[in-house]
Amino acid sequence: MHPAVLEIPGLGSIHVSWQFDGNVLNVQGSGKNLRISVTDVQLVKYPARNKALILFGNAGEQKLQIEFPNIKGLLHSHWGSFPEQEFKLGRFTVPLVMFLGSGLALVIAGVLIFYFWGIPFIARKAVELVPVEQEVSLGKEISTGVFVQTPPDSASSALLNRFAAEIDFASHYPLHFNVIHDSTVNAFALPGGEIVVYSGIINKLNHSGQLAALLAHEASHINYRHSLHGIMDKVLWSALLALVVGDGGLISAISAQGNEFRSLAYSRDLETQADTAGAGILRRNGIEVRQMLSLLKVLQQESAHGASVPEFLQTHPLPESRMEEVRALAESQVAITAHPQLDSLFGLLKTELK
Ligand SMILES: [Zn+2]
Repeated sequence: MHPAVLEIPGLGSIHVSWQFDGNVLNVQGSGKNLRISVTDVQLVKYPARNKALILFGNAGEQKLQIEFPNIKGLLHSHWGSFPEQEFKLGRFTVPLVMFLGSGLALVIAGVLIFYFWGIPFIARKAVELVPVEQEVSLGKEISTGVFVQTPPDSASSALLNRFAAEIDFASHYPLHFNVIHDSTVNAFALPGGEIVVYSGIINKLNHSGQLAALLAHEASHINYRHSLHGIMDKVLWSALLALVVGDGGLISAISAQGNEFRSLAYSRDLETQADTAGAGILRRNGIEVRQMLSLLKVLQQESAHGASVPEFLQTHPLPESRMEEVRALAESQVAITAHPQLDSLFGLLKTELK
């Protein structure tokens, strides 16, 4: 037997129990013993999905409210067909659903706004709070992790550092350049001054100015703390996720940053900033700014010929507009100096990597 509420005029609501016996619905309790067959049913209403309100008696003046999973199917299986009123969302349910729907839309909009503006904003503020010394030691820690897996080549790294020493990068950071033997066409900057250049990208270059442009671009990422900003962004997002999902993966998310460095993509704005500042470095050193354009062209050609896009372009996306900006910077340059030292060291480096 299952609980039910029986409503009889003059008696009010009483608690009873019910059970189907073939095609008869037996209702017992509180001194009542009713047998309801389909011919007694005047109308069945469904106030909720699993509830039925059976109106019976001569004028439907008696009401029995029962609750059961798939109550509609159960009634039909015992009674066949009978007059019924389909379950529908009530007068207040529709506005409520709409309200909840718009509430959900607001939450989603809030999350998106927070993701695209809030997190970068907080990351920017957080970056400002990190002292340079801490940024340098964070970079050292990450580079140690990177170099354990792929140690830099000492001979070519020494040549690259001699090459870089000829250029004034106007940096507050102790810049250090590392060549790693790897056919990947890529270069990246770690926070605090460590710059990694793969032999794969040096092999694509044919002018000392292109290499100077590459280093100037990466040094600018460091000067503007772009790498630190990228880490903050990811860490904040992971922290937020950990908070929401309640997962203890925050620590592993932070420690995974080192490995994700190679693929840390910067926004277009940051790339343009690194290009502009990099061009400024070239200009101050009397190095042709158009070599930066020629570097980008070499990389673009590489992606046009090769099966895959060079990693440098994946991590440093290169839309046409970025080329245009560098072209404009190159055209405004007046003073160019000869750099025999750079040319000769570039030649030595190329030979070393052959
Ligand atoms: Zn870049």
